[in-house]
Amino acid sequence: VTFYGVRGSCPCPSPSTRRYGGNTPCVTVQAAGESPIILDLGTGVRELGRLASLATMDAPFRATALVSHVHLDHIQGLPFFSPLSRPGTMLDIYGPPDGGRSLAEVLDGIVGPPYFPVHLADLPASVRCTDALDTVLAVGNARVVVAPIPHTGPTVGYRIEWHGVTVAYVTDHQAPLDHDSVDERVLELADGADLLVHDAQYTSEEFALRSTWGHGTPHYAVRVAALAGAKRLALFHHDPAHDDDDLDRLLAEAQDGAPAGLEVISAREGLCVRL
Ligand SMILES: [Zn+2]
Ligand SMILES: [Zn+2]
Repeated sequence: VTFYGVRGSCPCPSPSTRRYGGNTPCVTVQAAGESPIILDLGTGVRELGRLASLATMDAPFRATALVSHVHLDHIQGLPFFSPLSRPGTMLDIYGPPDGGRSLAEVLDGIVGPPYFPVHLADLPASVRCTDALDTVLAVGNARVVVAPIPHTGPTVGYRIEWHGVTVAYVTDHQAPLDHDSVDERVLELADGADLLVHDAQYTSEEFALRSTWGHGTPHYAVRVAALAGAKRLALFHHDPAHDDDDLDRLLAEAQDGAPAGLEVISAREGLCVRL
């Protein structure tokens, strides 16, 4: 599992965010002999595209992208994903419809004039969009569970199972006011996961001011991971206002509050977790 973008809401490159990175969500899951699975198409996907283009050279690029929801921070990297400019590339994108529009209609709404010079369909690559809200997918030899999770619009989490290894991706998850109960579907997704990637956007003080903005805290991420029996937790979707030192501090607090048997790490660009 490799992190290319770990930041929520808005890209925030600056010297003070250099260690964790300033790109918005993009994570890949790469299993031996399988095409990559890309979790979200935030601005981090641009670097993934650069590396993929170098690695595959003239071979056609094939991948499946699983989009959590269509808030801009999760899709805005798509038109800058360089494999799309190569004939032979095939990208399958799954994600929830929103506002009565299919995923294809929403993506075509931002990748096209006046927001972008050309439409997705006019790029050399073959891009296929499929609505997915509450279903189970077969992606190569992986079983992928898609389930709706609480946020501020139609949003899903993903559970990827491959030969006994499980990764759960639950970004943009609205924590309840009591920071205690956990949504049943979230627990299903994260159940016994080898790695849970989870929203950790706010400090407790920030959450008190933004308790309905669709996110949670590192403290709540630990709560979810512990209840689900996850083995490892990656704090994710960092607030763009938090600099590297803030994120170090939040990680240390989360590690202090974690039960024995739960390893807590903080996602940063370039981090590769081998499972
Ligand atoms: Zn987000
Ligand atoms: Zn969101």
